[in-house]
Amino acid sequence: MGKQNCQDSLAHVYFYLDDEIGRLRKARIKRHLKKCPPCMGAFSFESRLKAIVRERVREEPQPEVMDRLRAFLKENESGFGN
Ligand SMILES: [Zn+2]
Repeated sequence: MGKQNCQDSLAHVYFYLDDEIGRLRKARIKRHLKKCPPCMGAFSFESRLKAIVRERVREEPQPEVMDRLRAFLKENESGFGN
C-alpha cells in the first residue's frame, strides 16, 4: 500500500505544484508526504526546481532547460544545506 501511495504521489508532483489537482487528492498527497520522507524529498526538490525556473524564465520553460537545471541541481544537491 505504501508503495502505491508513493507512485500515486510522485505521478502527481507537477500537477500538485501547479495546483492542477483537486483538493481531495492534494490533501491525500500532503498526508502521504508527512509520513514519507523520500516522497517529501522528491517534492521539495521539484518545487525548488520550479521556483528557480519561474525566477529565471518568464515564459514556459523549454524541456531541455528543465533537464539541464535538474542535472545541475542533482550535482549540487549536497550544497543545499542539511
Ligand atoms: Zn512515498
